[in-house]
Amino acid sequence: MDFVVEDVFRQIITGEAPADIVYEDEYTMAFKDINPKARFHALMVPKVDGLVTGFDVHSENLEIFGRLFLAAKYVSDLEDLDTYKLHMNVGTLGGQVVPRVHLHQLSSDYAPELDCSMPTDTVYYEDEATIAYQHENPVCDQHVVIQLKDPELVSGLDIRETNLEAFGNLFWVAKSVSQQLGLEGYKLFMNVAPNETSSPFTCFHLLSPDYKTEL
Ligand code: 5GP
Repeated sequence: MDFVVEDVFRQIITGEAPADIVYEDEYTMAFKDINPKARFHALMVPKVDGLVTGFDVHSENLEIFGRLFLAAKYVSDLEDLDTYKLHMNVGTLGGQVVPRVHLHQLSSDYAPELDCSMPTDTVYYEDEATIAYQHENPVCDQHVVIQLKDPELVSGLDIRETNLEAFGNLFWVAKSVSQQLGLEGYKLFMNVAPNETSSPFTCFHLLSPDYKTEL
Protein backbone atom coordinates (compact mmCIF):
# COMPACT_ATOMS: atom_id res chain seq x y z
CA MET A 1 0.00 0.00 0.00
CA ASP A 2 1.38 3.45 -0.90
CA PHE A 3 1.86 6.33 1.52
CA VAL A 4 -0.65 9.13 1.02
CA VAL A 5 1.32 11.93 2.69
CA GLU A 6 4.77 13.23 1.82
CA ASP A 7 7.86 13.09 4.03
CA VAL A 8 7.06 16.08 6.24
CA PHE A 9 9.91 15.11 8.55
CA ARG A 10 12.46 15.90 5.86
CA GLN A 11 11.30 19.53 5.90
CA ILE A 12 11.77 19.60 9.67
CA ILE A 13 15.31 18.22 9.30
CA THR A 14 16.22 20.82 6.67
CA GLY A 15 14.63 23.63 8.70
CA GLU A 16 11.95 24.34 6.09
CA ALA A 17 9.18 23.37 8.51
CA PRO A 18 8.97 24.25 12.20
CA ALA A 19 9.17 21.72 15.03
CA ASP A 20 9.89 21.64 18.73
CA ILE A 21 13.34 20.02 18.48
CA VAL A 22 14.47 18.28 21.68
CA TYR A 23 17.72 16.66 20.48
CA GLU A 24 19.91 16.74 17.40
CA ASP A 25 23.28 15.37 16.33
CA GLU A 26 24.96 14.59 13.01
CA TYR A 27 22.80 11.52 12.39
CA THR A 28 19.52 11.89 14.22
CA MET A 29 16.91 14.48 15.11
CA ALA A 30 14.25 14.24 17.82
CA PHE A 31 11.25 16.58 17.98
CA LYS A 32 7.92 16.62 19.75
CA ASP A 33 4.99 14.95 18.06
CA ILE A 34 2.45 17.49 16.83
CA ASN A 35 -0.40 15.38 18.23
CA PRO A 36 0.94 13.94 21.50
CA LYS A 37 -0.55 10.72 22.87
CA ALA A 38 1.19 11.06 26.27
CA ARG A 39 2.54 13.75 28.59
CA PHE A 40 5.78 13.52 26.60
CA HIS A 41 5.78 12.27 23.03
CA ALA A 42 8.69 12.76 20.65
CA LEU A 43 9.82 11.23 17.37
CA MET A 44 13.40 10.07 16.66
CA VAL A 45 14.21 10.28 12.94
CA PRO A 46 17.36 9.51 10.94
CA LYS A 47 18.69 12.51 9.02
CA VAL A 48 19.82 10.41 6.06
CA ASP A 49 17.28 10.15 3.24
CA GLY A 50 16.07 6.85 1.82
CA LEU A 51 14.96 5.07 4.99
CA VAL A 52 11.22 4.99 4.45
CA THR A 53 10.13 2.14 6.73
CA GLY A 54 11.59 -0.43 9.09
CA PHE A 55 11.77 -2.75 6.08
CA ASP A 56 14.73 -0.62 4.88
CA VAL A 57 17.04 -1.91 7.62
CA HIS A 58 19.93 -4.05 6.34
CA SER A 59 23.38 -5.13 7.45
CA GLU A 60 25.00 -1.86 6.28
CA ASN A 61 22.79 0.55 8.21
CA LEU A 62 22.32 -1.15 11.61
CA GLU A 63 24.19 1.72 13.26
CA ILE A 64 21.74 4.31 11.93
CA PHE A 65 18.86 2.31 13.38
CA GLY A 66 20.72 1.83 16.66
CA ARG A 67 21.13 5.59 16.87
CA LEU A 68 17.36 5.96 17.23
CA PHE A 69 17.62 4.14 20.58
CA LEU A 70 20.63 6.28 21.53
CA ALA A 71 18.80 9.52 20.76
CA ALA A 72 15.86 8.33 22.90
CA LYS A 73 18.22 7.73 25.80
CA TYR A 74 19.74 11.22 25.44
CA VAL A 75 16.25 12.73 25.27
CA SER A 76 15.24 10.86 28.43
CA ASP A 77 18.20 12.47 30.22
CA LEU A 78 17.32 15.92 28.93
CA GLU A 79 13.62 15.56 29.76
CA ASP A 80 14.04 13.72 33.08
CA LEU A 81 12.17 10.62 31.97
CA ASP A 82 12.95 7.72 34.32
CA THR A 83 11.12 5.23 32.16
CA TYR A 84 9.73 5.50 28.66
CA LYS A 85 8.15 3.49 25.89
CA LEU A 86 9.36 3.16 22.32
CA HIS A 87 7.06 2.32 19.46
CA MET A 88 7.43 2.07 15.70
CA ASN A 89 4.78 1.46 13.06
CA VAL A 90 6.37 -0.32 10.10
CA GLY A 91 4.75 0.10 6.69
CA THR A 92 1.30 1.46 5.93
CA LEU A 93 -0.20 -1.90 6.88
CA GLY A 94 1.57 -1.54 10.22
CA GLY A 95 -0.09 1.84 10.77
CA GLN A 96 2.75 4.06 9.53
CA VAL A 97 1.59 7.37 8.06
CA VAL A 98 4.75 9.43 7.44
CA PRO A 99 7.17 7.90 4.90
CA ARG A 100 10.42 8.26 6.86
CA VAL A 101 11.54 5.86 9.59
CA HIS A 102 10.57 7.26 13.00
CA LEU A 103 10.66 5.86 16.50
CA HIS A 104 7.98 7.19 18.87
CA GLN A 105 9.19 7.90 22.40
CA LEU A 106 6.43 8.25 24.99
CA SER A 107 6.43 8.91 28.71
CA SER A 108 5.28 6.11 30.96
CA ASP A 109 1.69 7.43 31.19
CA TYR A 110 1.19 6.15 27.64
CA ALA A 111 -0.69 2.86 27.70
CA PRO A 112 -0.37 0.01 27.12
CA GLU A 113 2.32 -1.80 29.03
CA LEU A 114 3.50 -5.03 27.42
CA ASP A 115 4.97 -7.73 29.61
CA CYS A 116 8.11 -9.59 28.65
CA SER A 117 7.97 -13.32 28.20
CA MET A 118 10.22 -16.18 29.13
CA PRO A 119 11.61 -18.00 26.06
CA THR A 120 9.19 -20.44 24.45
CA ASP A 121 9.89 -23.40 22.18
CA THR A 122 8.78 -21.53 19.06
CA VAL A 123 12.04 -19.87 18.03
CA TYR A 124 12.00 -17.85 14.79
CA TYR A 125 15.58 -16.63 14.79
CA GLU A 126 18.74 -17.16 16.78
CA ASP A 127 22.39 -16.17 16.48
CA GLU A 128 25.12 -15.56 19.04
CA ALA A 129 23.74 -12.11 19.97
CA THR A 130 19.98 -12.32 19.54
CA ILE A 131 17.03 -14.68 19.89
CA ALA A 132 13.43 -14.24 18.68
CA TYR A 133 10.66 -16.43 20.02
CA GLN A 134 6.90 -16.44 20.22
CA HIS A 135 5.53 -14.66 23.31
CA GLU A 136 4.10 -17.05 25.88
CA ASN A 137 0.91 -14.94 26.21
CA PRO A 138 0.41 -13.25 22.82
CA VAL A 139 -1.60 -10.02 22.79
CA CYS A 140 -2.34 -10.24 19.04
CA ASP A 141 -2.21 -12.79 16.20
CA GLN A 142 1.59 -12.73 15.98
CA HIS A 143 3.55 -11.60 19.02
CA VAL A 144 7.28 -12.27 18.99
CA VAL A 145 9.88 -11.26 21.59
CA ILE A 146 13.29 -10.29 20.27
CA GLN A 147 15.89 -10.45 23.00
CA LEU A 148 19.56 -9.49 23.22
CA LYS A 149 21.59 -12.25 24.85
CA ASP A 150 24.40 -10.07 26.22
CA PRO A 151 23.83 -9.96 30.00
CA GLU A 152 25.24 -6.42 29.99
CA LEU A 153 22.48 -5.17 27.68
CA VAL A 154 19.41 -5.58 29.86
CA SER A 155 17.50 -2.44 28.87
CA GLY A 156 17.29 0.27 26.24
CA LEU A 157 19.22 2.46 28.70
CA ASP A 158 22.32 0.34 28.02
CA ILE A 159 22.68 1.72 24.49
CA ARG A 160 26.10 3.28 23.88
CA GLU A 161 28.15 4.53 20.91
CA THR A 162 29.97 1.18 21.21
CA ASN A 163 26.94 -1.13 20.86
CA LEU A 164 24.81 0.65 18.27
CA GLU A 165 24.88 -2.32 15.90
CA ALA A 166 23.64 -4.77 18.54
CA PHE A 167 20.62 -2.58 19.19
CA GLY A 168 20.14 -1.74 15.49
CA ASN A 169 20.14 -5.45 14.81
CA LEU A 170 16.86 -5.73 16.75
CA PHE A 171 15.19 -3.95 13.80
CA TRP A 172 16.86 -6.31 11.33
CA VAL A 173 15.75 -9.42 13.24
CA ALA A 174 12.21 -7.97 13.44
CA LYS A 175 12.18 -7.55 9.65
CA SER A 176 13.52 -11.03 9.12
CA VAL A 177 10.92 -12.63 11.42
CA SER A 178 8.12 -10.55 9.88
CA GLN A 179 9.08 -11.95 6.48
CA GLN A 180 8.99 -15.50 7.84
CA LEU A 181 5.53 -14.79 9.21
CA GLY A 182 4.36 -13.22 5.95
CA LEU A 183 3.60 -9.86 7.60
CA GLU A 184 3.42 -6.92 5.18
CA GLY A 185 3.43 -4.47 8.09
CA TYR A 186 4.01 -4.69 11.82
CA LYS A 187 4.51 -2.73 15.03
CA LEU A 188 7.48 -2.67 17.37
CA PHE A 189 7.43 -1.86 21.07
CA MET A 190 9.99 -1.61 23.87
CA ASN A 191 9.49 -0.62 27.48
CA VAL A 192 12.62 1.13 28.73
CA ALA A 193 13.19 1.24 32.47
CA PRO A 194 16.16 1.34 34.85
CA ASN A 195 17.79 -2.07 35.05
CA GLU A 196 16.88 -2.71 38.67
CA THR A 197 13.15 -2.28 37.92
CA SER A 198 12.93 -3.90 34.50
CA SER A 199 12.99 -7.50 33.36
CA PRO A 200 16.53 -8.90 33.23
CA PHE A 201 16.87 -8.61 29.45
CA THR A 202 16.16 -6.23 26.59
CA CYS A 203 12.81 -7.21 25.20
CA PHE A 204 11.66 -5.88 21.81
CA HIS A 205 8.10 -6.84 20.89
CA LEU A 206 7.16 -7.55 17.27
CA LEU A 207 3.38 -7.26 16.90
CA SER A 208 1.12 -8.04 13.95
CA PRO A 209 -1.06 -5.20 12.58
CA ASP A 210 -4.17 -6.38 14.47
CA TYR A 211 -2.52 -5.14 17.70
CA LYS A 212 -4.64 -2.20 18.86
CA THR A 213 -2.79 1.01 19.69
CA GLU A 214 -3.47 4.73 19.51
CA LEU A 215 -0.31 5.28 17.50
P1 5GP B 1 3.09 7.11 12.35
O1 5GP B 1 1.60 6.92 12.37
O2 5GP B 1 3.63 7.33 10.96
O3 5GP B 1 3.81 6.07 13.12
O4 5GP B 1 3.34 8.44 13.17
C1 5GP B 1 3.40 9.71 12.59
C2 5GP B 1 3.39 10.71 13.72
O5 5GP B 1 3.83 11.94 13.21
C3 5GP B 1 2.00 10.96 14.32
O6 5GP B 1 2.03 10.69 15.71
C4 5GP B 1 1.72 12.43 14.02
O7 5GP B 1 1.04 13.08 15.07
C5 5GP B 1 3.12 13.00 13.79
N1 5GP B 1 3.19 14.10 12.83
C6 5GP B 1 2.60 14.15 11.62
N2 5GP B 1 2.92 15.30 10.98
C7 5GP B 1 3.74 15.99 11.83
C8 5GP B 1 4.39 17.25 11.72
O8 5GP B 1 4.29 17.97 10.73
N3 5GP B 1 5.15 17.64 12.79
C9 5GP B 1 5.27 16.85 13.91
N4 5GP B 1 6.04 17.33 14.89
N5 5GP B 1 4.68 15.65 14.03
C10 5GP B 1 3.90 15.23 13.00
